[in-house]
Amino acid sequence: MKLIFLGPPGAGKGTIATRLAEDEGIPHISTGDIFRENIRNQTELGKKVKAILDSGDLVPDELTVELVKDRVAQPDAAGGFILDGFPRTVPQADALADFAPVDKVLNFVLDEEEIVRRLSGRRVHKPSGRTYHVLFAPPKVEGKDDETGEDLIIRDDDQPEAIKNRLAVYEKQTAPLIEYYNSRGLLTDIDSAPAPDEVYKAVRTELGLA
Ligand code: ADP
Ligand code: ADP
Repeated sequence: MKLIFLGPPGAGKGTIATRLAEDEGIPHISTGDIFRENIRNQTELGKKVKAILDSGDLVPDELTVELVKDRVAQPDAAGGFILDGFPRTVPQADALADFAPVDKVLNFVLDEEEIVRRLSGRRVHKPSGRTYHVLFAPPKVEGKDDETGEDLIIRDDDQPEAIKNRLAVYEKQTAPLIEYYNSRGLLTDIDSAPAPDEVYKAVRTELGLA
């Protein structure tokens, strides 16, 4: 099962991908998570991309493609993978078609008002990447990670100015991939508006796993 989760920031791709990856025993490959981990560990790559992520712009294609190419070549991805947040541009999609063609693209659909609501309430446990929402998926103790009790943070790119920029970047650079994959017969829309359990059920049904 080689999958792409497509859709605007905040649509809930990561939430569903984490769960599906765990249930199906395939890796969840989130380019955003990989970049953030490199920033946290202050690697060369992390230093290069920090300002880009904070602003909400895209990391250059070449760099991103190399990263994903290496990642899907790892043994744990041989039986399948979920790409979350990649590809985000047509050149990235073209590159992927050469090194790891996918079976299906799920397009998570959510209107802009709800996207902003989800992004502005998102809270993250930085070391693990665990994601919460102040209203829709609150932690047991306010502001604290359920498993470690450590502080939750607001991602720099979930600040209002960066959210605005990310939505513009999505429309311009990533939304064209909807037609790209539709015309190749790979795309299915998933309504992301319902609660996570319901969205997850719809995804499993679509994948023939229900
Ligand atoms: P993405 O990976 O697409 O950027 P996330 O999975 O990080 O999106 O979700 C964005 C925010 O919305 C998080 O705070 C998450 O807890 C919350 N969220 C995810 N799915 C839902 C849902 N179906 N209903 C309400 N809130 C959700
Ligand atoms: P979200 O799903 O909330 O938009 P991600 O975690 O997928 O956020 O991405 C965070 C940031 O990481 C993006 O705004 C961008 O700067 C960078 N990034 C992630 N994936 C890619 C990609 N495929 N190409 C270029 N930049 C990327």
